[in-house]
Amino acid sequence: MFERLKRLFIPKQCAICKMKPTQPQKYINDQKETVLVCRKCISYAERRAMRKM
Ligand SMILES: [Zn+2]
Repeated sequence: MFERLKRLFIPKQCAICKMKPTQPQKYINDQKETVLVCRKCISYAERRAMRKM
């Protein structure tokens, strides 16, 4: 049950390129949501001042 809820809130795709992320990192976006960012989009996430979890 709890695992299913967590999966709803953390989509299994990169928040920036929307691809299936390889070695994803968790970041907090502007809406204070946890999002995944793939390795090649990390620099973009940091430029947008997203905070790493
Ligand atoms: Zn990406």
